[in-house]
Amino acid sequence: MPVLVMKFGGTSVATLDRIRRAAKRVGREVANGYDVIVIVSAMSGETNKLVGFVGETSPLYDAREYDAVVSSGENVTAGLMALTLQEMDVPARSWQGWQVPLQTTSAHGQARIVDIPTDNISAKFGEGMKVAVVAGFQGISPEGRITTLGRGGSDTTAVAFAAAFDAERCDIYTDVDGVYTTDPRITDKAQKLEKIAFEEMLELASLGAKVLQTRSVELAMRYKVKLRVLSSFEEYDPNAGTLICAEEDIVESRVVSGVAASREEAKMTLTSVADQPGIAAAIFGPLADAGINVDMIVQNISDEGRTDMTFSCPTDQVKRAEKALADAKAAGLDFAELIADTGVAKISVVGIGMRSQSGVASKMFKVLSEEGINIKVIATSEIKISVLVDRKYTELAVQALHDAFELDKVA
Ligand code: ADP
Ligand code: ASP
Ligand code: MG
Repeated sequence: MPVLVMKFGGTSVATLDRIRRAAKRVGREVANGYDVIVIVSAMSGETNKLVGFVGETSPLYDAREYDAVVSSGENVTAGLMALTLQEMDVPARSWQGWQVPLQTTSAHGQARIVDIPTDNISAKFGEGMKVAVVAGFQGISPEGRITTLGRGGSDTTAVAFAAAFDAERCDIYTDVDGVYTTDPRITDKAQKLEKIAFEEMLELASLGAKVLQTRSVELAMRYKVKLRVLSSFEEYDPNAGTLICAEEDIVESRVVSGVAASREEAKMTLTSVADQPGIAAAIFGPLADAGINVDMIVQNISDEGRTDMTFSCPTDQVKRAEKALADAKAAGLDFAELIADTGVAKISVVGIGMRSQSGVASKMFKVLSEEGINIKVIATSEIKISVLVDRKYTELAVQALHDAFELDKVA
């Protein structure tokens, strides 16, 4: 039997009614002749609640216990989805990550998938089971502890299962009917894209378009998984949604395909750092060891042997970064102060057409200046330009850039 992977995000399983709705879609694909692997998220809001409990209990928590707590939301929906399918006479059972077992690294809170053995689930399909419902977001470490894959990780669970089982397609059901030129919550001028290239989706995801977890796009690209994003609320339509595909499969090329915004950025500045060989390693080594995801880095010109060093990292890692640098200072790292600015947002424009078209950066800067928005940090790559700005300008910046690059006319 061909295998299909269907992933339902938090809003798609937020109530028992919605679980029934999702289960009906699964039932339809079973009737179409598929063995289905369903990946479920926790009910919407549940993971945030659990993350909040952990932070309140222990600010610099033990990440192994964080995972024990925050992985639990998916256990509930996996069981409920299996029960709902059984009630519809569809042979189904649930699997928690460790039962598969979905093996991961031991990087708690942001573990990576190492292997998904297929024998257990395949054997059950062989015995007549039609649907394997798997709790997304979670796995098991080599030490036998429960791990989680980072926020939005169920997307990655889904793509990894699609790769492991050589699925015909991986359908990501969510609360929007596809990937848009920007977050449709920020502007109603956002247009749904019929197709988007893996590389562009990868950038958009890593720059804040949380419709897909970055790692899921990476895996889909590497294992050539046919990946689709679609709404679990719309009527059934086999051609619905957005296909994430290879660049060659997109006929018309655009210079800019999308604008992404991330409000979960912090700008960290180390003042009066001794400007000498090895200083960057002395700063970013301890940050890497503490698991801090440093993104942009700027070193200012030096004045009498001292300089300022600025970097950005996710807001929820600020406490850890402060601790790592305070420890490094105690051990001899020479700087005056660490200033954390948690009131910034990262705004990015992304498009593979930028490779061959110049002038995108200057246009972006001009648009922002016309809106009176000050740029604090800039970073570029081949197919994206990102800036940090005051967070209060997030919507304004996205809307102005979306207009300026005529993304409302993309469809
Ligand atoms: P789920 O719970 O189903 O995983 P998420 O909330 O993680 O859903 O992701 C879907 C959300 O992503 C949408 O509601 C939308 O607000 C947001 N989003 C951000 N950028 C985009 C974009 N470019 N296209 C579509 N959705 C986007
Ligand atoms: N429930 C987890 C989260 O909210 C994983 C997911 O939904 O993808 O991040
Ligand atoms: Mg998500």
